[in-house]
Amino acid sequence: MADDRGFGTRCIHAGEAPDPTTGAHGVPIYQNVTFAFETFSQVEAMRSGERPHFTYSPRGNPTVRCLEAKLANLEGAESAIALNSGMAAISGVLLSVADGGHIIASEQLYDLTRSFLESEFPRFGGSVSFVDLSDRGTIEAAITASTRAIYAEPFSNPLLKVTDVRVLSEITRQRDLTLIVDNTFLSPALLRPIEMGANLVIHSATKYLSGNGQVQGGVVSGSRSFVDPVRERSLLLGTAMSAFAAWVLLSGVHTLPLRMSRHAENAIGLARLLKAHPAVKNVNYPGLPSHTGHTIARDLVGDGEDRFGGMISFTLHGGSGAMAAFIDALALCTIAVSLGDSSTLVWPWHAGNLIRVSVGLEDPRDLLHDFSRALSVLTPVPASDERT
Ligand SMILES: *Cc1c(COP(=O)(O)O)cnc(C)c1O
Repeated sequence: MADDRGFGTRCIHAGEAPDPTTGAHGVPIYQNVTFAFETFSQVEAMRSGERPHFTYSPRGNPTVRCLEAKLANLEGAESAIALNSGMAAISGVLLSVADGGHIIASEQLYDLTRSFLESEFPRFGGSVSFVDLSDRGTIEAAITASTRAIYAEPFSNPLLKVTDVRVLSEITRQRDLTLIVDNTFLSPALLRPIEMGANLVIHSATKYLSGNGQVQGGVVSGSRSFVDPVRERSLLLGTAMSAFAAWVLLSGVHTLPLRMSRHAENAIGLARLLKAHPAVKNVNYPGLPSHTGHTIARDLVGDGEDRFGGMISFTLHGGSGAMAAFIDALALCTIAVSLGDSSTLVWPWHAGNLIRVSVGLEDPRDLLHDFSRALSVLTPVPASDERT
């Protein structure tokens, strides 16, 4: 498991080698479902575990296997499984701690994760407490005899609230609980929770790992004892990743560290512009020293303007009217959900009139220009006159 090559090198080379039969450089798409055996005894050797052999793609596909090996390497994990969406990864992991288990989850989570915990998790015998994970006392008070896991997003979606993974890992170690981290917003290029004591790391590969919004995927990394049950369950739930998605993701991951640096550099520039603009009420970006979680964020991801990721959310003075005028005045940025794309994606949320920005890879000058111009259509509203 120990690989002392640099992270950028591992993004390219881990899990990959030229195809042994053809010499093809770059992993081919093994676009087939079943795998042939030459003899009966070969089947028996596969069954006994004596000689591994692919059987049926939902149980393992060579292209998908390469991606899994690469991602396990990048997370510093013993094992990884690739699934057909981030939600397949999240539901697969959560179902392995249901069945009478109680889970402590952050009160700020990706909305579908929260919906799953509220509506599906109890059907499988699980129970959940949503708590403020920034307060150690609150977490410890929520632990009961049936608590099995703590579930967190280090930088939350969409509010960018920062959670200290190291504190959570101390608690889960002391209390013999499982720490599950959804690391979609930061990617292993910026944060590797397993190195900080997390047991399972989840990604929506649809986002930064892909980088271009072309495929859907999810990944779960951790020790085999945690990942194997998720793998078994994926057969029953029918959530295997396709060879095509794995192939697209393999090349996406090659450029992950370069992209993450550029996303973050563009994001800090944009966050500063927003912060200084009179039409902007509030900016959530952990890279800003004024962000309440900045110090913890810096301890987690390191110091440097290319470390805090590409996600920003903010609100405008003037409420929903201002939000509508601003969004419609954007020309370069795309009005769209999702994140981690090379294009800047901007999405308005009803709750709190929040605007979420997935900062893309455009030239910073063009990006800042688009935002400045769109902000300039707003007439600053005096604070006393504010309607939100
Ligand atoms: C998008 C997202 C998910 C869900 O991933 P899908 O691939 O869309 O199923 C989970 N967690 C976070 C933080 C996300 O942004």
